[in-house]
Amino acid sequence: AVEIRDLHKSFGSLEVLKGIDFDVEPGQVVCVIGPSGSGKSTLLRCVNLLEQPTAGTVVVEGVELTHRDVDIDAARRRVGMVFQQFNLFPHMTVLQNVMIAQRRVLKRGKAEAERIARENLDRVGLSEKAASYPAQLSGGQQQRVAIARALAMSPSLMLFDEPTSALDPELVGDVLTVMRKLAEEGMTMLVVTHEMAFAREVADRVVFMDGGVIVEDGPPAQVIGAPRHERTKSFLRRVL
Ligand code: ATP
Ligand code: MG
Repeated sequence: AVEIRDLHKSFGSLEVLKGIDFDVEPGQVVCVIGPSGSGKSTLLRCVNLLEQPTAGTVVVEGVELTHRDVDIDAARRRVGMVFQQFNLFPHMTVLQNVMIAQRRVLKRGKAEAERIARENLDRVGLSEKAASYPAQLSGGQQQRVAIARALAMSPSLMLFDEPTSALDPELVGDVLTVMRKLAEEGMTMLVVTHEMAFAREVADRVVFMDGGVIVEDGPPAQVIGAPRHERTKSFLRRVL
C-alpha cells in the first residue's frame, strides 16, 4: 500500500530525513519508534505531503504522490491522519465534526455523510456522544472522534502520530483498543508511538529511526525483543 524510496527532507541546511526506504503492505501495521528529533513526524508528514520531500518517492496505492503532475488533494484523501492534538471544531457537535470533511471534500450528501459518520462513531464506541460538543468529552473520547473523522473519509491508509501522547494515562487504553480493533479489521496503519506494549502486540513490523535514518526494521520480537544495533538497545533501555 505504501512504498517509500530514498526519501530525503531538509529544512534549510538541517537534513532531517537522510534516505528512508520501507514499504507497508496492505493490511499491515508498522510502528515507528525512535528518539525525539529523529524525524518520525517529518516522515509521516511526507507520506501525506503535509511536507514536500526534498528528494525520493512516496507511492500510496500505486499513485506516486511525489510526482509533479499528481493531484495532491485527491491523493491525500486516501490517507487518514490522526495527530497528538485532536483539532476538533469546538463549535460543532461530534456528529458535525465527523460529517464536515465528508460534505466539503468528498461532496457526500447530508444523509449519506450522516450515515457514515454514525457508522464510524459506532466503530470507535461513541454512538451515544453524537450530539455532544468536544468540550463535553474526555481527551480519550475526543481522540476517538478524531479517529472516526479520519475513518469516515474511507482512507486506504491511516497514519497516527503519537495519538496517545497528550492523554492522561487512564485514557490511553481506550484509544489503543480502538486502534487494535482497526488493525484486526485489516486497516493498513503507520503508527508513530512510544507505547512499546502496543507495538509489540499489534505491529507486524517495527521500524527504529535515529538521526534521520532507519537503523532497524523487522518484526517486533526482533527489533524490540532482540535488537541488533547498539543505538536501538540504548533507546529501548531508556523507554522500556
Ligand atoms: P518527537 O519524538 O519529539 O515528536 P520526531 O522524531 O517526530 O520527534 P520531527 O518532528 O520529525 O522529530 O523533527 C525532526 C527534526 O526536524 C527536528 O530537529 C526538528 O526541529 C526539525 N523540524 C521539524 N519540522 C521542521 C520545520 N517545519 N522547520 C524546521 N525544522 C523542522
Ligand atoms: Mg514527532
